Amino acid sequence: MSTQDSAGSLSKKLIADNQTSCNPRKSVPVRIRNSGENQIQVVSGIAWDGKSLVDQFGRVHSDIRVSITDRCNYRCIYCMPLEGMEFLPRKDLLTYEEIVLVLGAVQSLGVKSVRISGGEPLLRRDVTDLVKLISALGFEDISMTTNGHYLGEFAKALHSNGLKRVNVSVDSLDPGKFSRIRRLGDLSRVLGSISRASEVGLGPIKVNVVVMRGVNEDEIVDFCEYARKSGNVVRFIEFMPLDAQGAWTRDQVVGADEILATIRGKWGLSPIEDDGDVSSPATTYRFDDGVGEIGIIASVTKPFCGDCNRLRLTCEGSIRNCLFAREELSVRDIVRSAKTKEEKTKQVQEAFFNALVMKKAGHGIGDPNFERPNRSMSMIGG
Ligand code: SAM
Ligand code: SF4
Repeated sequence: MSTQDSAGSLSKKLIADNQTSCNPRKSVPVRIRNSGENQIQVVSGIAWDGKSLVDQFGRVHSDIRVSITDRCNYRCIYCMPLEGMEFLPRKDLLTYEEIVLVLGAVQSLGVKSVRISGGEPLLRRDVTDLVKLISALGFEDISMTTNGHYLGEFAKALHSNGLKRVNVSVDSLDPGKFSRIRRLGDLSRVLGSISRASEVGLGPIKVNVVVMRGVNEDEIVDFCEYARKSGNVVRFIEFMPLDAQGAWTRDQVVGADEILATIRGKWGLSPIEDDGDVSSPATTYRFDDGVGEIGIIASVTKPFCGDCNRLRLTCEGSIRNCLFAREELSVRDIVRSAKTKEEKTKQVQEAFFNALVMKKAGHGIGDPNFERPNRSMSMIGG
C-alpha cells in the first residue's frame, strides 16, 4: 500500500519504517537549518554541503523526472490496458506554476537536469509554455520522453522555448506490429516526428524500445540497423513490473545479456566508458566499426541502483525516490497551503530531504519478497 500525505505529517512514520528495513544510520525528522554558506549541515543523518543532494549511500541526486499528466492517447501493451483506465481530475494535477516552484526548490539543492514525461506529456495543454518556464530557471539540461505522436507539430516551439532533446518510444519498425504494441499508435507519424525533431535541433535523439519476449525481440538487429543508419541512439529497455494491468511476468523479460548476445552475433560492440550523459540509466555501447551507438536499460537483470541520481515527481505532486518505491511524499498540500513563496520553497526542500532519507540501497526486484509498486509507469513518468 502506498503512503501519501503531506511531508511533515508522514516523515516520522516513513523514517521509522526505513530505519527498521534498510537505513543503517540513525535519522531524525528533517530540519534544514539556516547557516553560513559552504557550512556542512547534518540533515536527517545526511551530510549536506549546501550544494548537492547526497543520500546516505553517497549517491548524488542531480536529476529529476517530472510526470505532467497521467493521460495518454496510446495504450501500449506493457503500460496500460486498452479500456478501463481512469485518469486524475485536472484539479489534482500540479499546475505549471506549482511545478515550477518545486523545480526551483530542488534546483537550489543541486538538481541540474529535468526530464518531462507522463503519460503523454504533449497532451497537456500549453506544454510549450511549461518548457519556457522551466527553461527560465536555468537548468543545465531539459529533455522530454514522448510517444512522438504530436512531436512533429510541437518540435519547433519546444526547441525555441528551451527543450534540449527528446527520447521517443518506438518498439517496432513494422507498422502492423507497432500498432499492436503501441495500441492506437501510428508508426509513420512517429517516424515523421523524429525527423522533424532532428531538423529543429532537438538532439541527440534517443529511441526507446521496450523488448518483450515473443513480441519484438526479433527486431533487435533491425533496430541496430536503424541506429546505424539514422545516427539516433536506440535504447533497449527491459520490461519492468510497472504495467497498469499487473500482467508482468519475469519470463516476458528479454534481459541485457540476451540482447547483447543477439547484437554481437552480427557486430562487434564495445561499452562506452563515459557517454557524457550522467542522467541516463542506460549502459551505452558503440559498434566496433565506429558507426552507431546503442544503450541498454537493464533495470530488472542488472539493476543500476548504486549509481542512481534520480528523483521523481508525479503529476499530482508526490515525490518518489525510486521507480519501484512503495511510499511517496506529497508536496501538493505544501505548495497549496504555505503562505509565502519562501515558506513553500523551504517546506518543499524539506520534503525532498525526507524522501532522500527514505531512499533504499536498491529496488530489490530480484528479492523473493519484492512487491511491485501500486503505481504504473504512466503515473510515475518513466
Ligand atoms: N508516453 C511517453 C512515451 O511513451 O515515451 C512517455 C511516458 S512512458 C511511461 C516513458 C517510457 O516508459 C517509455 O519509453 C515507455 O516505453 C516506458 N515504459 C512504459 N511502461 C514500461 C514498462 N512496463 N517497462 C519498461 N518500460 C516501460
Ligand atoms: Fe502512453 Fe507512453 Fe504508456 Fe505508451 S508507454 S501507453 S505512450 S504513457
